[in-house]
Amino acid sequence: MKILVINCGSSSLKYQLMDMNSRTPLAKGLVERIGLPGAILTHRPKDGEKEVIVGDLPDHVAAIAMVLDAIVDPEYGVLKSLDEIDAVGHRVLHGGEKVSGSVLIDEQVKQAIEECIELGPLHNPANLAGILACEKIMPKTPQVAVFDTAFHQTMPPEAYLYGIPYEFYEKFKIRRYGFHGTSHKYVSQRAAALLGKRIEKLKLISCHLGNGSSITAIKGGKSVETSMGFTPLEGLMMGTRSGDLDPAIVSFIMNKMSWSGDQVTEFLNKKSGVLGLSGVSSDFRDLENAAEQGNYRAQLAIDVFVHDVKKYIGAYAAVLDGVDAIIFTAGLGENSPLIRKSICDTLGYLGVSLDEEKNLTRGQEVDVSKWGARCRVLVIPTNEELMIALDTEEIVNNKNKAS
Ligand code: ADP
Repeated sequence: MKILVINCGSSSLKYQLMDMNSRTPLAKGLVERIGLPGAILTHRPKDGEKEVIVGDLPDHVAAIAMVLDAIVDPEYGVLKSLDEIDAVGHRVLHGGEKVSGSVLIDEQVKQAIEECIELGPLHNPANLAGILACEKIMPKTPQVAVFDTAFHQTMPPEAYLYGIPYEFYEKFKIRRYGFHGTSHKYVSQRAAALLGKRIEKLKLISCHLGNGSSITAIKGGKSVETSMGFTPLEGLMMGTRSGDLDPAIVSFIMNKMSWSGDQVTEFLNKKSGVLGLSGVSSDFRDLENAAEQGNYRAQLAIDVFVHDVKKYIGAYAAVLDGVDAIIFTAGLGENSPLIRKSICDTLGYLGVSLDEEKNLTRGQEVDVSKWGARCRVLVIPTNEELMIALDTEEIVNNKNKAS
């Protein structure tokens, strides 16, 4: 089976054409500047040179048409005909409370995505535009939606409710949703495979540490608590996002700076986090370099981040009543031995014991614990595209069996 995985942003579109026999991409690429003059498609076939194509793309229909043309191009394409694409899997940010898993797209699903625009105003409209564009160009090809929030719908009310009047949950749907669900689901499944245990028997803490970061407690393969909340602003301090803070700080800053609520939200999303604290960069590579050269605030930002992660791991070990393995994934989790070591340094009480040699690994699936450690520490590169393709494959196979 061949599955096209699409991740639509407001002016960009990432894609991978997955071959499900080998579970690897035949081609992948990125379209930038959709709706702006001079759009660019960068197409990378598996066994060829990258191809850069420039053109004006007024909307997502035009962008998807350009991607499909590249996929079947006689020179740099990887398929003879679009009929070889068995299904399309779309990454969708927000499914609200109606969606607890990946689903075959129909009118109801599109309506649910539309209803959640209020909760995901930047992403859901673009995700929907991508779906409508594919429907228009490939009307016979089944399409599946894979939601970032769906994996966390198994959280119990005590984990997803905030301490505000219940009517605000009922009326406005204010609750914890959680994000990065596709990544947390993928790495938890890989962790079970790596440990050679059934996921139903495992208590896992998955740390997705990248530009955006979140931690999830996973019991028996199900999310029971996660650090991002109503929006992806809550939880750990991140590249440019503040993470948790006293909510009264918001009105305090509004008064001090004469800012609107939206201005403070923008400030907490884009100017805060390790960028704001360090004054150096949102990128941990820059911070590690600056700290090594004695930059106090870069070191401070790293220390606050590491402290945050430890705090969440401790809290989630309590929620899970023990932990069999801690997983590190995403840009920072996969690639920074220093951050992993700093986090694990004081986790001996959980049975963590890091093997410093093995911990030097970058971007590979490795158990980096010492032999016999009670709580394993696993580095697992995330692969959200593969997870989307696997969910899509399963749903399409079930549909074919049923009809
Ligand atoms: P996003 O949330 O945008 O998907 P990524 O998962 O790609 O982010 O993570 C990006 C971050 O990973 C970078 O900002 C950088 O801080 C960190 N990172 C990537 N490689 C390294 C490395 N070798 N050492 C330290 N940090 C790294």
